Amino acid sequence: MRISVDPERCYGSGDCAYRVPAVFTVVDGFGAVQPGREDAGDDPAVREAVEGCPSQAITLAE
Ligand code: SF4
Repeated sequence: MRISVDPERCYGSGDCAYRVPAVFTVVDGFGAVQPGREDAGDDPAVREAVEGCPSQAITLAE
C-alpha cells in the first residue's frame, strides 16, 4: 500500500521517524516518507506508525 503524510495535519512529533526510520523521516519539521519507500505500506511496522501518529496524518491507500 502507498503511504502519504498530510502536511496539513502533521505537527512534526517525529514519532513515525523514530518508530520506522527506514521508511519515515522528518523534513523541515514535518514527517515525510523516505524517498523511494512510498510503497512500503504493507510493512507491519508502518501500520503501527500509522496507528501511533498522534495527529492521524499518515494514510495508506492502494
Ligand atoms: S507521527 Fe504523525 S504527527 Fe508525528 S511527524 Fe509523523 S506524521 Fe507527523
